[in-house]
Amino acid sequence: MEKKNIDWGNLGFSYMETDKRFVSNFKDGVWDEGELISEANVTMSECACVLQYAQTCFEGLKAYTTEDGHIVTFRPDLNAERMEASAKRLEMPVFPKERFIDAVVQVVAANEAYVPPFGSGATLYLRPFMYGKNAVIGVKPADEFEFRVFCTPVGPYFKGGVKPLTIRVSDFDRAAPGGTGHIKAGLNYAMSLHAIVSAHEEGYDENMYLDPKTRTKVEETGGANFLFVTKDNKVVTPKSSSILPSITRRSLVHVAKEYLGLEVEEREIYLDEVKDFAECGLCGTAAVISPVGKIVDHGTEICLPSGMAEMGPVTKKLYDTLTGIQMGRIEAPEGWIKVIK
Ligand SMILES: *Cc1c(COP(=O)(O)O)cnc(C)c1O
Repeated sequence: MEKKNIDWGNLGFSYMETDKRFVSNFKDGVWDEGELISEANVTMSECACVLQYAQTCFEGLKAYTTEDGHIVTFRPDLNAERMEASAKRLEMPVFPKERFIDAVVQVVAANEAYVPPFGSGATLYLRPFMYGKNAVIGVKPADEFEFRVFCTPVGPYFKGGVKPLTIRVSDFDRAAPGGTGHIKAGLNYAMSLHAIVSAHEEGYDENMYLDPKTRTKVEETGGANFLFVTKDNKVVTPKSSSILPSITRRSLVHVAKEYLGLEVEEREIYLDEVKDFAECGLCGTAAVISPVGKIVDHGTEICLPSGMAEMGPVTKKLYDTLTGIQMGRIEAPEGWIKVIK
């Protein structure tokens, strides 16, 4: 298979149209068989439910080439399960898990020329999503839906080395108790755009959102879960019903316990305690872990002892172990690696 002539190492995180995408449509109560198509543009009614009432959810995962030359994805079953939860909360039909995984496999195989080679640091980012497609003007769910998976090659996350982030405690809220924070819905991102643009304008990389009810507890950022390390090497991660259950964070918790023998606590974390932690990282598919060096709470700076030059030592071990598992250097737990080719 001849690869596309792409400067893999210098790709950013942006959309590049690839050859094929998988599409299945839901109509009259059933999903059709679905197929791989070449057309990257979508045509629909101006009154489509997704356009008027944001009835849409998505997933994000990566395919990549391992050291021994296989093309694999990481835990796509969990993406399928999470999309099932998102669809149910948004009154959308569930796209069956086995079919979800099969669609991901088909898209990767059909776009093999875009799967970056091992060692480039780049990956093929997959974006499964679903949306309400028919016209709806009175507020109600659509009854026709499209499920689609496209892919785009993306560059290495830490280009030119790891740089710890500076984040601010946000005055904007992300997700209300009883709201939609725990599902991967486009609407959670629409309302985060103003918060992230204004954070960037003020010189911060990200927002730390607090629980909206008491504004005392740490929730997450716009697109990544927090993981903290205490001064005695315990891994601590926030527990809340309004946090999106990151697959990376759940995998890192397993790695911490089972591979590194670390104690892990999933519990409520008060903003007050953050100053006592030794390390802080943000977990998500894109970066695995991005270290946080500084957290600014309305002018008060919390400087993590791990500093602004590198990952903290425990964060680094977690990062190295999980990326080792993903790349096939370290034996993976049963079922974590889905081999495509
Ligand atoms: C997608 C997402 C994450 C990260 O989840 P992963 O499964 O690790 O990629 C974290 N928080 C939010 C709000 C997200 O949308």
